[in-house]
Amino acid sequence: MSDTSLVDLPSIRDWIAASDDHSDHHLRLIQQVESLLSDGCELPTDESRLLASKLERWRYQRFNECGDSRQSMDETLIDQLDLWLNQLRGTNPRCLRSARHAVKPQATDDSFSEWFDPDRETESLQAMATRLTQEHFSISTPETGAGSGQRRMLLYAPLYVSSHCVNHCTYCGFQYPLKIDRIHLDRDEVLQQSRILRQRGFRHQLIVAGDFPRLTSTEYFCDLIAMLRQENLELSIEIASQSTDSYAAMKKAGVTGLTLYQETYDESVYRSLHLKGPKASYHWRLEAPDRAAEAGIGRIGLGVLLGLADPEEDVRAMLRHASYLKDRFPQLKLAFSLPRIRHAPDGYEIPFVIEDELLIRMYCICRLAFPDSELILSTREPAELRDRLKQICITQMSAGSSTTPGGYRETNDEEGITDQSLGEQFPIVDQRPVETIAAGLQEDGFDVQWTFAQPGSNG
Ligand code: SF4
Repeated sequence: MSDTSLVDLPSIRDWIAASDDHSDHHLRLIQQVESLLSDGCELPTDESRLLASKLERWRYQRFNECGDSRQSMDETLIDQLDLWLNQLRGTNPRCLRSARHAVKPQATDDSFSEWFDPDRETESLQAMATRLTQEHFSISTPETGAGSGQRRMLLYAPLYVSSHCVNHCTYCGFQYPLKIDRIHLDRDEVLQQSRILRQRGFRHQLIVAGDFPRLTSTEYFCDLIAMLRQENLELSIEIASQSTDSYAAMKKAGVTGLTLYQETYDESVYRSLHLKGPKASYHWRLEAPDRAAEAGIGRIGLGVLLGLADPEEDVRAMLRHASYLKDRFPQLKLAFSLPRIRHAPDGYEIPFVIEDELLIRMYCICRLAFPDSELILSTREPAELRDRLKQICITQMSAGSSTTPGGYRETNDEEGITDQSLGEQFPIVDQRPVETIAAGLQEDGFDVQWTFAQPGSNG
């Protein structure tokens, strides 16, 4: 073994030759890696980057092929490929991607286990979460001192650009077999939608799309991001999991944040819900935050769709995932969102009904586990619950949202925020106009912000 390998290479070659349907191709790749790494030239080069992309693809193929029954040699190869692609990208030394181990229950209790104790009353969790949120998300001034000024609340808007999707996520209104009016916005249409949102105040916009590789390509997103950056906007993405190269291209185009929900961390439930399409690969999705952070995206939002599987287990796994990411990327700004599934297409029965009290408890636990993380709440929750949660721990809210591409209209009367007749991903429950929500926050003493780039904010 050498510092470029975790394993005796002849033995891995023999194993590949005996077990891999594409062994000739893969053995050639290994040969190229060895030759590049022994050359002594400074990395990365265009050639080494290209080779790293090929190794990344091979690594996920291996995950998919061996499924749940990975042998120790599979694990070794998966890690070996990661080590090589880091070296080829010039990012060595970096500890290897290991989210697959990190999200599993640990032999010893997680540091946040105590907050899940059912004997802890929700009121005591709420009080602690409220205090921590005030401490970490208030505006400091010389008069108020740290932790006692106005709380800040970021308002943001989702900007849906495409409802085309090849994935069969059984719980989603955009899933492939559903007959809905699919909409894909071109750059002019996206610009028009974005400007409507900008007029309403939103400088932080979240680009959202289904997964339809021919239409929702890296080039498409990079073009939109670069165009919207010209509008002086702050941009995040909530799109299909991307390769490291794709995330790097989007970062270069100007994106600063990624939102990506694992949906559920229960691997067998995940497989049963994601029947076909690229999203069926649990590990490709699980490691997307790693790839985004490796590509330099500095804000990452994790989440689970509460109700698909045991909610408490899912939140525990999400927090383990976050701890792992924070260890690997200490500068990363983390966010959490806990949407709950309340409506689903015909044929999908929601297995866990999540009551308001449980949702509040889970949000409080996120705050206690990660006191300085952003906690995000969307308009799929009712106004009363949003008003309650904002006082406790929420730091980012969407407002006046549409989940239909092209759904924002110039006029904004009380009922006309979205055009519900078009295919939407999920129904909006809090339908209050943006100005009503912003005014309510101000009346309650919040400092309403429209972008992270604010002076004086602790968050
Ligand atoms: S959840 Fe996302 S990937 Fe799945 S069908 Fe809906 S839009 Fe497509």
